[in-house]
Amino acid sequence: MNPSDLEFDLRHIWHPYTSMTHPLPTYPVISAAGVELELSDGRRLIDGMSSWWAAIHGYNHPVLNEAAKSQIDRMSHVMFGGITHPPAIELCQQLVAMTPAALECVFLADSGSVAVEVALKMALQYWQAKGEKRHRFLTLRHGYHGDTFGAMSVCDPDNSMHNLYKGYLPNHLFADVPQSRFEGEWQPEDITSFRQLLLQHHNEIAAVILEPIVQGAGGMRIYHPEYLRQVRKLCDEYQILLIADEIATGFGRTGKLFACEHAQIEPDILCLGKALTGGYMTLSATLTTRHVAETISQGEAGCFMHGPTFMGNPLACAVASANLKLLSDNQWQQRTQSIESQLKAELLPLKSHTTVEDVRVLGAIGVVEMKQPVDMASLQRRFVQHGVWIRPFGRLIYLMPPYITRSEQLSKLTNAINDVII
Ligand code: PMP
Repeated sequence: MNPSDLEFDLRHIWHPYTSMTHPLPTYPVISAAGVELELSDGRRLIDGMSSWWAAIHGYNHPVLNEAAKSQIDRMSHVMFGGITHPPAIELCQQLVAMTPAALECVFLADSGSVAVEVALKMALQYWQAKGEKRHRFLTLRHGYHGDTFGAMSVCDPDNSMHNLYKGYLPNHLFADVPQSRFEGEWQPEDITSFRQLLLQHHNEIAAVILEPIVQGAGGMRIYHPEYLRQVRKLCDEYQILLIADEIATGFGRTGKLFACEHAQIEPDILCLGKALTGGYMTLSATLTTRHVAETISQGEAGCFMHGPTFMGNPLACAVASANLKLLSDNQWQQRTQSIESQLKAELLPLKSHTTVEDVRVLGAIGVVEMKQPVDMASLQRRFVQHGVWIRPFGRLIYLMPPYITRSEQLSKLTNAINDVII
């Protein structure tokens, strides 16, 4: 790549959560195939991030490429208002079939954050239609649900942008996070904070929103399934809607197709994104029950008030549809299971390291939590020198590799972590 292009990038292009005056370094990637990213100087890096939980089958997959190519020759986009098309219908048929039976109605949107906005709006319109003005959401500390305003308002209040946007964000309710570990013993007091908030505020709460089992960007915490069961029970008791944000956890990442399955519970509204298109392009889906959809439709507006320009984008739907077929043909269970066993064998021993606070593994997710915040730029450089792509944040160094990652490739990722934390 031309050095002047990199200069242009530095000077003119914003990257995620990056300063325009002191930007963190960026690495020019010119192609990607399988589990490897190719840098412009020819170096190849084994990807441990799946491009933020998305590229579950790796890059440049012939089946997904073919789905995109054949769809683009028919039409890449057409408006969804007053028009429907086979890629959207086929995708929604698959989504309805693979998610809990009660989730029958699908809203397709642009990104994970928008899927969360849609879910929150569904809950608000549901209560409006029932003649009740409920405007608050109950959620968990350490949660992350996206960067748009509604989504931001239910992110962890301390560890997010709440301070910056004080006065612009509505004031929602945040329960303490469960301390019981996924594989540990259930501590009944874990649900106390949630129960108390529900008890005090149930008349104003439109819905509970949470990331089931794994809290991602808010701290990569993995909690006990009993917590989720108790949340579902309490929501039922107080007749409050439960929104499961499975944007990060969905499609096999935690070792189950959806993380809610670890607790055998079903949400009233489910948000999906990220891996939905196998990491090819942005698309999300918010599913709900017929009861919620019908109640909304009987409200004052007579419809659900959302309709983005690129809703149901045929190109994204065609790739998503091929991606879901690939997932069902692709033995994701065996693959995520063997990734989990290997991550446990190779990462858990790091727990004894003096600089390491904790190590957690579930499905194809491995987290090494350090005692001190890491220097992202220098660690990133060292990972690249090791031939791997791992992007730490805060005190967390974590892996969520594509499911197709082979054992020796995974070892290269875990060895690199081992080397840099010494
Ligand atoms: N919810 C969760 C649980 C997420 O992890 C993310 C993205 N990290 C989002 C929502 C937002 O998705 P997007 O970045 O596609 O807007």
